[in-house]
Amino acid sequence: MSKLLWIAFEASDAPAAAGFAQAVGLGFDLLQISGQPVTDIGADKVLSANLSEMPTSDGLAKAIAGVAGGYSHVGAVSSMRSKDVLARVAGLMDAAMVTDVVAAESPTRFKRPMVAGSILATVEVLSMPAVLTVRPAGFAKGDRGGSSSVESISLDATSVAKRLGASARGGARPDLTQARVIVSGGRPLKDAQTFESVIGGLADALGGAVGATRAAVDSGIAANELQVGQTGKIVAPDLYIAAGISGSTQHMAGIKDSKIIVAINKDPDAPIFEFADYGLVADLYQAIPELRAKIGK
Ligand SMILES: Cc1cc2nc3c(=O)[nH]c(=O)nc-3n(C[C@H](O)[C@H](O)[C@H](O)COP(=O)(O)OP(=O)(O)OC[C@H]3O[C@@H](n4cnc5c(N)ncnc54)[C@H](O)[C@@H]3O)c2cc1C
Repeated sequence: MSKLLWIAFEASDAPAAAGFAQAVGLGFDLLQISGQPVTDIGADKVLSANLSEMPTSDGLAKAIAGVAGGYSHVGAVSSMRSKDVLARVAGLMDAAMVTDVVAAESPTRFKRPMVAGSILATVEVLSMPAVLTVRPAGFAKGDRGGSSSVESISLDATSVAKRLGASARGGARPDLTQARVIVSGGRPLKDAQTFESVIGGLADALGGAVGATRAAVDSGIAANELQVGQTGKIVAPDLYIAAGISGSTQHMAGIKDSKIIVAINKDPDAPIFEFADYGLVADLYQAIPELRAKIGK
């Protein structure tokens, strides 16, 4: 059966299925692991596991592989979690895997960035099924509407590992890989407190996520999980505000798919201005408070 099974770990992962399915010309079912079933994106059916807690990756992969038999494609939004879980699913299904798909030429030919985004490779999958992680920014948003049927399923995600605890920094801020707005800061943000009040403050005012350069992470200004770039997270927000960031190739590799990049840098020759849609040559310590005053927060 030529059909896509789209894995939505949370409800917010679901809508990207529509644009991707349309691009490859396939119908799709949605396997939603948690959250309210998303029924208005054109899925033939929604398999709702409705788990209250995300299982560990090995257990979840086993459960997904159990459902995925018979589908020609298994896909999910590119994220740290999907790369972890879907790589295991591909292993269990003895399937080919293509990560970070940014375009589809056919149901078996995909484009993906390589070498920090400096090369766009075309990859052909020679045997099905294909397991894919997809960057939604590369695809048109699918139409919303209709009402898919919902089937409740129980997933056996028993694992050889046990999660003892989890702690998240950044409170209620959105996940970097899913955020529509990201405010990122670099090396000039002096210390962790300044970073949090200046960058975190603007992010909160805009309802966005916080990102950082590796230089900021390495100097202890920002937490490791906030790093964006070649060796950090790949992001694709509608708006990326880079404050005090020079625009190294490694950082830019992670933000290329952003719809609008705004750079605030006091050096008019900073490389980031070559990539930014809007550039402000200014001291971030003046520009950000002024910006916050203008948006009233
Ligand atoms: C293998 C490898 C992998 C890497 N992976 C990553 C990665 O994933 N992500 C990443 O980010 N980096 C990565 N790096 C590091 C990367 O090469 C750069 O060193 C780093 O991105 C620079 O961070 P930065 O822009 O914060 O610092 P800098 O390059 O020091 O730039 C700071 C900028 O702030 C400006 N500035 C200073 N003060 C102010 C002010 N008051 N107001 C406004 N502007 C100001 C300066 O003009 C400058 O342009 C990697 C490097 C290697 C070798």
